[in-house]
Amino acid sequence: MALIFRQLFDPQSSTYTYLLGCSETRDAILIDSVFEQVRRDAALIRELDLKLLFTLETHVHADHVTGATIHKRIGGSRITVPVLSGASGADIYLSDRQLITFGRHRLEARSTPGHTNGCMTYVLDDGVMAFTGDCLLIRGTGRTDFQQGDARTLHRSVYRQIFTLPNGCLLYPGHDYRGLTVTSVREEKRFNPRLGGALSEDDFAGYMENLKLAHPKQMAVAVPANLKCGVPDIPMQTNESDWAPLSYTFAGVWEVQPAWLEEHLGNVQILDVREPEEFSGPLGRIPGAILIPLGQLSGRVQELDKSKPTVAVCRAGGRSAQATNMLRQAGFERVANLSGGMLRWRTEGCTVEGGQG
Ligand code: FE
Repeated sequence: MALIFRQLFDPQSSTYTYLLGCSETRDAILIDSVFEQVRRDAALIRELDLKLLFTLETHVHADHVTGATIHKRIGGSRITVPVLSGASGADIYLSDRQLITFGRHRLEARSTPGHTNGCMTYVLDDGVMAFTGDCLLIRGTGRTDFQQGDARTLHRSVYRQIFTLPNGCLLYPGHDYRGLTVTSVREEKRFNPRLGGALSEDDFAGYMENLKLAHPKQMAVAVPANLKCGVPDIPMQTNESDWAPLSYTFAGVWEVQPAWLEEHLGNVQILDVREPEEFSGPLGRIPGAILIPLGQLSGRVQELDKSKPTVAVCRAGGRSAQATNMLRQAGFERVANLSGGMLRWRTEGCTVEGGQG
């Protein structure tokens, strides 16, 4: 019953998203997803062969829009929010000490208000890890100057709900602005410069009153959207194309499958980026493919028709993935990589020109 665990980062808002899965049942959950990263995270979930059961929010975020609604649309996950968050449109509203189960693992919701009224910390299994959202950060805390923020409430949340966890419990925050990734209960009790060591609640309140931070840039958009669980004003396309059923990889490449390509050979331009001896070699080539070796592509893009959808191919799909990036940079909008290259094309019995048996 090993845990599958990934810490994902959104560089624009410095938000951490956490993917947790059960290695036995493949059931998974996602904590604090980010709208702009839904494609990436959905690709990872698919590549790890996980089934997303729930998206969870630690609170109503002011600095990014949640991807909860889009994940639900893509994979049927259930939107889970703290009951006191004030958000509407969720499937599950969590109260203090309520449990969420995924496979052989469970998360316990602990109410940790102070940054917002509805903030929750999620504790994994017997306190091996906890996800503290914007309540406790690494050597810091969430701010308490807007969205029902209250420094004394936050201080009590940390001491009653987080510092009562085992000392060795690993703490994963909702953000970090210095690239730090994880801390522990023991460390924060001793070294948190706002509320650790010998510092009192009064010390903390005084510190927080004088933080004077600017409001997050996205706040006017993010808060209203998150109060509706991330329903965006602009619908997001999860399949970017109108010309082929593309899938997106965690590596950042749009791919098309051999079976689809074979049925639509006449409608697309096929770019083979192998070397000439491979093109005429034993693997053969896709009928109608245009040969431009990868090393010559940047100087010869004008030989291709920009108005046509283009599928790049090579031996196994590596060089052609790079070719799709180059084509996009050159202004080609409808571009995809042939998944698995000529090797998979042949394994699946698709039509080959030239080559051997
Ligand atoms: Fe926040």
